[in-house]
Amino acid sequence: MFNASPEELQAALQQLEQAIYNHDAWYKELNRTLICQLPHDRRDVADDAHRQCRFGQWYYNLAPQKLHDNAAFAAMEVEHERMHRLATRLLAASETRKVIRSHDYDEFSNALDRLRLQIYTLKREIEDTLYNRDPLTGVESRVGMLTKLREQLELVKRRIQHCCIAIMDLDDFKVVNDTHGHLAGDLVLAAFARYVMEHVRTYDKVFRYGGEEFLVCLPGTDLKTGHALIERLREGLAATAVDHGGKAILTTVSFGVTLLDPDISVEESIGRADKALYAAKAAGRNCSRIWDPSM
Ligand code: GH3
Ligand code: MG
Ligand code: MG
Repeated sequence: MFNASPEELQAALQQLEQAIYNHDAWYKELNRTLICQLPHDRRDVADDAHRQCRFGQWYYNLAPQKLHDNAAFAAMEVEHERMHRLATRLLAASETRKVIRSHDYDEFSNALDRLRLQIYTLKREIEDTLYNRDPLTGVESRVGMLTKLREQLELVKRRIQHCCIAIMDLDDFKVVNDTHGHLAGDLVLAAFARYVMEHVRTYDKVFRYGGEEFLVCLPGTDLKTGHALIERLREGLAATAVDHGGKAILTTVSFGVTLLDPDISVEESIGRADKALYAAKAAGRNCSRIWDPSM
């Protein structure tokens, strides 16, 4: 999800809050049924009870596609289904006026806790993403960028995976502002950031690094693959016309690319990407360069 726009994130958060409310209401009703030994809702003992409750209806039918890629969202399915199975067992015992064994209730209760943990993990992730956004472009702001890159560096150090990073800088952006006005410049920045977000994988990260500079982080990506992805982004952006009051603004970007190096700090690796960017600018712009020690 977390390449979704602020509006999509806000909508997902609202839906999730409603789903939590519905789930809590279901739980309250279940307890009432069990304690007062009332007839149960037939849907709660169906084989697919987890699909019939309102939380399940949201989960399976209404939740936005972008949520489905999130690990906590995926983990919820297992916990939710298990919890319903255990609830069905409690209802069956209650219906036959049997005493509910404390072991069965504890199992249900633990499943409920695990489901809640997944739900609140997802909620926290959406909130974190939403509140760490750059308001103009919708990508992550640089607050938190170093922390996230350092987490990646730890994986690189333990040889778990490579991590490719790239700094993107809009070419002659001052000219865009001077020719079309600052507002048009803002539109171009927002459109370019959106294009990048929509063309990277869900677990890639895009940060607004400075005024018209962005840092793209590609975990689990070697230099060759990362560079190919960056080149595709560069070509796509060069072909992206931004509409400003009926006028199409075309502009290009340059990239400096490198791998996070396990033997140096994140800041030093960013410095390498910066040097490679400088080389791309010197080579005439609208191109990318990979850092090498001669730079
Ligand atoms: P180069 O190809 O060498 O990168 O040239 P450039 O003109 O892009 O570079 P320079 O650093 O000279 O200018 C960057 C411009 O980006 C100047 C600044 O006003 C503009 N800029 C930075 N942040 C924003 C913003 O949020 N909105 C707009 N519209 N312009 C911005
Ligand atoms: Mg710049
Ligand atoms: Mg620039």
